[in-house]
Amino acid sequence: MTTKSTIYQFCRALPKIELHAHLNGSLSMSILTELGCMDTSIVRYMNLTDILNKKERALDECFKLFKVAHDATNTPDSVYIATKRVIEEFDHDNVMYLELRTTPRSEENMSKQEYIESVIKAIKENDKNITVKLILSINRSHDMKNSQESLEVILNMKKIFPDIIKGIDLSGNPNVGKFEAAIFKTAKENSLYTTIHCAEVKNDEEVKDILNFGPDRLGHATFLHPRYDGCQENWQLYCEKRIPIECCMTSNVICGTSESYKKHHIQEWIKNGLPFCISTDDKGVFCTSLSEEYEYANEFFDLSKEDMWKVSLNAVDYSFASNAEKLLYKSKLNEWKRDNENLFL
Ligand SMILES: [Zn+2]
Repeated sequence: MTTKSTIYQFCRALPKIELHAHLNGSLSMSILTELGCMDTSIVRYMNLTDILNKKERALDECFKLFKVAHDATNTPDSVYIATKRVIEEFDHDNVMYLELRTTPRSEENMSKQEYIESVIKAIKENDKNITVKLILSINRSHDMKNSQESLEVILNMKKIFPDIIKGIDLSGNPNVGKFEAAIFKTAKENSLYTTIHCAEVKNDEEVKDILNFGPDRLGHATFLHPRYDGCQENWQLYCEKRIPIECCMTSNVICGTSESYKKHHIQEWIKNGLPFCISTDDKGVFCTSLSEEYEYANEFFDLSKEDMWKVSLNAVDYSFASNAEKLLYKSKLNEWKRDNENLFL
């Protein structure tokens, strides 16, 4: 019988694919403590009530919180430890494949290259039951010169670690800066997959440019469907392209871009059979886990256990893994289903 407790069990046991997780936003309270963060900073980082009370600027408020995590990861050692622990926590949540994303930063005692090297060191040392790949982000608020410099470092590092660095992302505060197609075109030409935070706020012109560019995946796509303040022309273009979107329900609800879980735009993708995956975005800042996000999909959109298994299976196809790896993860999911028939009851 499907009850709340069997759904809880199922979502935790299901081998999951996480395609949208920012390293710094994924730092849990215990990781921040290990990194020497002061209690007062952690309280600020976790103080979501404050954010919810300021709904109209909630998204901007969320971005301020990342400063706490950034301050805690401003040396190669702390970046290494943070990455290691985040991988362990995703593994603990039965995530079998993780695409972690982060923006290369230079700090007083760390270059962008050293930042990436520290993340990669932790990924290479990973001996858990989880495969980890890296997506490097360009911050949309940075100027072209800074973005080009980041891209150069990313491309150089990709030559050294082609099996780990798989893609490039555009992220940062959507109210600041813009999408520069040239950066992503160069990345694509250099065999990097592309994923772009898109329509986090209403911006039809930019959404059109992003859709015309045609990235491999879109982050959020909140204000894309006409029922969610998007325009018909962009929606038609989207339906032709059918680009998989990374849905991060809790993140959108807390940031105030979605009114509630029940009203989340994921329902348009479910209803129309469009490609999506379920993700956490920033599990630390938003106090969530991938298992919990699957539970919300069941609770608010009636996804059955079979449906949720299929969401995980489809996410394999949307990932930036190699074809051989995709076959392996799909067979693991099929095997898990065969061995756990009782969990589907
Ligand atoms: Zn994100």
